[in-house]
Amino acid sequence: MTIAVYPGSFDPITNGHIDITTRAARLFEKIIIAVSETTGKQLFFNTEERVDLARQAVAHLPNVEVVSFNGLMVDFARQVGAKVMVRGLRMSADFEREFEMAMMNKKLDPGLELVCFMTSQEYQFLSSSLLKEVAGLGGDTTSLVPAHVAQAIRQKARGGN
Ligand code: ADP
Repeated sequence: MTIAVYPGSFDPITNGHIDITTRAARLFEKIIIAVSETTGKQLFFNTEERVDLARQAVAHLPNVEVVSFNGLMVDFARQVGAKVMVRGLRMSADFEREFEMAMMNKKLDPGLELVCFMTSQEYQFLSSSLLKEVAGLGGDTTSLVPAHVAQAIRQKARGGN
């Protein structure tokens, strides 16, 4: 059984992430969405919220689970027996960063294979950071994220929990 881990901040999960997860779930027996607890980015949602939002978003995919992790991704992958790491690629900026990370991860664990999925055209310009910016300015995010995520963003943007 090939287990693939799909790591990221997922702050929050978007339709772009769900698209990558759905496609990966057709190729691998099990996908573990790994929500990183510590990320260099300024976070909108805390770990528990990011995990909950992602769980609800992929509840219809039976071979996908969502967990949070701390520390090195390669260590987490080894712990759960994942042989593959999934990432999504949008534009050239993603490519450079992913390439750099892939080289480092290969050094840390040569046994872990990286599989990158090209974004679907409609999600090419969708990022969690842009989404939060739009939401913060009162923009409508309903076409970019599942309804429960749009609702959570609205609530957060208003200053609720
Ligand atoms: P990270 O902070 O690790 O980049 P993100 O949650 O921003 O975490 O993204 C996780 C992964 O999903 C990354 O590989 C990113 O390139 C990919 N991704 C994000 N948005 C999209 C999208 N719209 N289409 C395809 N891949 C995406």
